[in-house]
Amino acid sequence: MELVFASSNRNKVAEIQKLIGNKVKLLSLKDINCTEEIQETGKTFNENALIKARYISEKYKCNCFGDDSGLEVEILDNAPGVYSARYAGEPKNDENNIQKLLNELGARTNRTARFKTVIALVIDGKEHFFEGEIKGQITLQPIGNGGFGYDPVFIPEGYDQTFAQMSLDEKNRISHRAIATQKLVDFLNNKL
Ligand code: IMP
Repeated sequence: MELVFASSNRNKVAEIQKLIGNKVKLLSLKDINCTEEIQETGKTFNENALIKARYISEKYKCNCFGDDSGLEVEILDNAPGVYSARYAGEPKNDENNIQKLLNELGARTNRTARFKTVIALVIDGKEHFFEGEIKGQITLQPIGNGGFGYDPVFIPEGYDQTFAQMSLDEKNRISHRAIATQKLVDFLNNKL
């Protein structure tokens, strides 16, 4: 069976294809010749993930899933949340986002945060959601050079390194994205 991932990022698609095995052939938006940018106008990760999955599934008459992720910081009323990518404004800039986050937090001692991913799957006309989250702490300053986004300021619970100090393999074993993806993979494996 073929399943479209509403993402143009072929690395993400390849990563998930590895986990799913060969019962399902994953296609990226590029593979189905979709080059439009789908507007993420939702107020929650669930809404944004579903907007993408529904749009592609309806327009291209296919089974499809979309994802949305971000960082929620407890004392900032869960900001930046769905605005994580553009927290410091356009154009999207990881360093500026981190700086804004550290400024907002100042010297506050409650630095509890979590990364969340929601995957919305539209399959055979039905909608399913899979969530992953990882709790942690925001550091006082960026540490480490790996990863992307807020990785240099996030230390996952039970660890003493930021995501940006970990190897990609290590991060991918424990991340919010990995947890949500594994739930999707389990669902597909049970279904097929
Ligand atoms: P996306 O929905 O996966 O594109 O994530 C939206 C934004 O959330 C990214 O641009 C990052 O700013 C942030 N984000 C999501 N996942 C991660 C992560 O694993 N590490 C760091 N930042 C992340």
